[in-house]
Amino acid sequence: MNSYWQPDIETAAPDTLRAMQLQALRRTLAQAAQSPYYGELFRRLNFSPEQIRTRDDLRRLPFTTKDDLRGHFPYGFLAVPKAETIRLHCSSGTTGNPTVIFHNRHDLDSWANLVARSMYCAGARPDDVFQNICGYGLFTGGLGFQYGAERLGALTIPAGAGNSRRQIKLMQEFGTTVIHAIPSYLPRLREVFTELGLAPAKDTRLRVILSGAEPYTEETRRRLEAMFAPAKVFNSFGLTEMNGPGVAFECDCQNGLHVWEDAYLTEIVNPDTLEPVPDGELGELVFTSLDRQAMPILRYRTRDLTRFLTGPCPCGRTHRRLDRITGRSDDMFIIKGCNVFPMQIEQVLMRIPQAASDYLIVLETLGDNDELILQVEAHPEWFNGDFSKLEHVRQRIVREIHDEVLVTPIVQLVEPGSLPRAEGKAKRVDDRRRNGKTDF
Ligand code: ADP
Ligand code: ZN
Repeated sequence: MNSYWQPDIETAAPDTLRAMQLQALRRTLAQAAQSPYYGELFRRLNFSPEQIRTRDDLRRLPFTTKDDLRGHFPYGFLAVPKAETIRLHCSSGTTGNPTVIFHNRHDLDSWANLVARSMYCAGARPDDVFQNICGYGLFTGGLGFQYGAERLGALTIPAGAGNSRRQIKLMQEFGTTVIHAIPSYLPRLREVFTELGLAPAKDTRLRVILSGAEPYTEETRRRLEAMFAPAKVFNSFGLTEMNGPGVAFECDCQNGLHVWEDAYLTEIVNPDTLEPVPDGELGELVFTSLDRQAMPILRYRTRDLTRFLTGPCPCGRTHRRLDRITGRSDDMFIIKGCNVFPMQIEQVLMRIPQAASDYLIVLETLGDNDELILQVEAHPEWFNGDFSKLEHVRQRIVREIHDEVLVTPIVQLVEPGSLPRAEGKAKRVDDRRRNGKTDF
């Protein structure tokens, strides 16, 4: 039996799946009790893993937060002897100090299986040629996809990030059919195809693009698919605290991300009350790892906002689906009394063909007022050096952003390619306000 397509697990009846989860949860709690952090917590709460009769009993335990992980850096959550661990990864540190996660051999094996399963789920096959266009090293996207793709049996090209010309050359030389890259890099890669007088459709064999690690909208996906047609783009979700990629993934129905329920127990809670929200309602994702030994984490608050989608998926997989992640609760900023998520702005911009894919939201105090300044690169196909020809586009952006977020932005169209490109994940908001984020 292969590990990338296990119908007995992936299409298990919901009751069977719940029973599997409960068993795995008990194992995980017993394992977690071996760590200094959870050992102490369980003692303090007079909690023992045998008290768990249903999955809901887990709610007797408090959440684990990023601050808890940081506060017990580096070994406070370690549940096996240090000598048993064989690798560590750190989160990218997008929102502050990084956290560290340790793995033993079992953990890495299980993670590779999950990534192989995810890739297969999105349509990758053992005879594919897979090029991993992302940073290797502490970032989990590099080694995570590397070992997952090897487990699948694909020929892997550990290309690493950047150097778009070389990426394209590799794609041509080895007939790459599947790539993995973060969404904000893909438009750049496409630009370089054009610079070289090439097009993905005629000059490559690309058919599947796996993309995630940062939020992007459905409009952006459609745009990326138009850029790389006939290749399809599949959403990949994960976080270092839960291994990295391979937590939830889109199947070829492209209708939300199946979260692998045999490996993760998923809750979605109201971020204010911390009570579970009904299916279909937006809330914060909370994960409990179910198959990790070196560093099990219980009820981890991701700060990522999404909802459970309801109804069966035509692909036959029974693991529940998550809607596209809207962003993290701390991505939200408040300007002129309105709550705004960067993805609301991206959603508007990606409908406007004259706007390229790069934009930057600058929050700045001008005089006595805080303003939302939106810098948008003009699309090279629509720009001839004269911004006055695009004035109607600028005005359209002002209008549509106002309709979406109820704040009138100052919109500045800028030259194609002129906004700073991040090395890794894109930085969409630059808060230069005098009072910082707390301003009302
Ligand atoms: P950091 O938390 O420092 O960015 P990670 O590399 O572990 O480090 O990033 C995990 C986070 O990336 C997730 O919690 C989520 O906010 C974001 N993320 C990952 N995949 C996606 C995706 N497909 N859509 C939206 N956000 C994503
Ligand atoms: Zn499906």
